[in-house]
Amino acid sequence: MDKSTQKQRAKEYIREFYRNNRANFTLAVIAATLSSGMQVGIAYLLKELTDVSMSGDLGTLAGLVRTAVAFLLLTVGIWLLDRRFRHNFIRKAVEAYRNKAFDAITSKGIASFGKENTSSYISALTNDVNSIEANYLTANFTFLTLTLQAVASVGLMLWYSWPLTLTVMALGVLLIAASLPFGNRIAEQERKVSEKNAGFLSMVKDLLSGLGVIKSFQAQEEAAALYYDRNGKLEQTKCRRRKAAETVNIVSFIGSFTVQMGVFCYGAYLSIQGRITPGVVIAFVQMMNYIISPIQQLPGLLANRKAAVGLIEKMAVYGEDISSGANLEKLETVGDGIRFEHVDFAYAEGADALKDVSVRFEAGKSYAIVGGSGSGKSTLLNLIMGSCPGYRGSVTVGGKEISRLQPDSIFDVISVIQQNVFIFDDTIARNICMFREFDREQVDWAVNGAGLSGLMDEKGEEYVCGEGGACLSGGERQRIAIARSLLRNSPVLLVDEATSALDAETADSVTDSILNIQGLTRLVVTHRLDEKTLSRFDGIVVMKNGRITEQGTFQELMEQRRYFYSLYMVSREA
Ligand code: ADP
Ligand code: MG
Repeated sequence: MDKSTQKQRAKEYIREFYRNNRANFTLAVIAATLSSGMQVGIAYLLKELTDVSMSGDLGTLAGLVRTAVAFLLLTVGIWLLDRRFRHNFIRKAVEAYRNKAFDAITSKGIASFGKENTSSYISALTNDVNSIEANYLTANFTFLTLTLQAVASVGLMLWYSWPLTLTVMALGVLLIAASLPFGNRIAEQERKVSEKNAGFLSMVKDLLSGLGVIKSFQAQEEAAALYYDRNGKLEQTKCRRRKAAETVNIVSFIGSFTVQMGVFCYGAYLSIQGRITPGVVIAFVQMMNYIISPIQQLPGLLANRKAAVGLIEKMAVYGEDISSGANLEKLETVGDGIRFEHVDFAYAEGADALKDVSVRFEAGKSYAIVGGSGSGKSTLLNLIMGSCPGYRGSVTVGGKEISRLQPDSIFDVISVIQQNVFIFDDTIARNICMFREFDREQVDWAVNGAGLSGLMDEKGEEYVCGEGGACLSGGERQRIAIARSLLRNSPVLLVDEATSALDAETADSVTDSILNIQGLTRLVVTHRLDEKTLSRFDGIVVMKNGRITEQGTFQELMEQRRYFYSLYMVSREA
């Protein structure tokens, strides 16, 4: 994606903040404007009170007290307005953004989804969103308030005394010059902390998810050392950021002290000469805050805001292929089956994974796909799933070319079962239904078909599968996957080495369950070369180095005494 489309897309995300949220935003801006005015109003009140205390006019003082009370009530009212609409705006904006971000990530094609590492998505939906909330949404209001207060203060200052205003301006410029070198340093440190945080998160995720393997290799100490090291580095970076912030604090304290004292002294001089009242000096000292704060905060705010926009742009890249597929056809049935004609495919230039593959899978029949590791079996299935664009030749399902189909519609017709079954920590039934509602009868039918009724009877309806299916055996997890695809009622089932982690007996009985399902087109990649199971398939496709070497029934292939025969004989000896 080039820079300008990326910026364009980032704008779409920013627009998401304001969708159905305009009223909240407008009222929040009005509240922020009014409250800036009220802040400057404090300076006016202080001036009047100081002057009246010098003049000794009790009547005016009583009037001022009434004004102060009215001022307080008004301020509280504005605050309530601000509290309500600003926070509602931010709430809705963050919610809408996070939803859009999730949609963008989950609508990616399966192939491109796999390219990014999951923790970068997690970080995009958590850390990044927090940072956008603080450094973009909330910061926009801070930015607005600071600017309005400064502008209003300068206006009031000019009205009170232009020589003193000029002094304020001159000292302000000096202050800007002094704090300039520190602004970017903070932003730089902030970026480093966020980088280290992301790296730490990804490492912790790897360590914890691989804990079983780590323990079995007795590598706990090494893993812990890696963890301690990263943890230390993370804290070092954070400490550096805090120290940098502290330096800035010291410098700005010195700066603002100097400026305020300068204004106070010169103001006192002007007041002694009788050119301004003492009240004006007090008002100036109060308003100095509204000049100094923006000088100190704006550079950091702007740098952080830029970083937040950068995060939004990063999100825009994640959502890259969200709008594809508008003018593509829909796949609705498997028709007369799946057909490959002279298909060549390479993941990378020059290394063909499939070479001149022509094969036909008839609807409603079952096929075993066998062959050595790396022979292209998974690639064959991936092509049918539409996750290998850029193939040559023709791959059709029900007569429709895969490359011209809407990716989502392919999943309506085709289900896949892989070695890793996604199981979440809930009951078996809910795992089978995958967040959707089905009739009781349908669920029972799927449970039966997948050979899960024994488990359901034994453990009960409410048995919970555990995180990642930890409370189930490998065979049971596979059966849940089978039940899911039965429930989805998709006419095609692709199975990629689903049983390879299982012991022989369980593997055969899971494969049997698949073979028992009637009317489904089934393509089963398997490395179990067992006569009893293989002879039940309607056809066997044998692959070697990306080519189909032979196809036929078990009997036919054995009689041909070619590659399959030798594979089979070798596996029997093993
Ligand atoms: P099988 O499933 O039969 O073991 P695959 O279809 O997975 O074989 O792989 C066929 C060839 O394609 C292998 O040489 C493998 O290294 C390569 N390959 C598989 N997936 C990818 C990928 N995502 N990127 C690049 N090469 C791949
Ligand atoms: Mg494979």
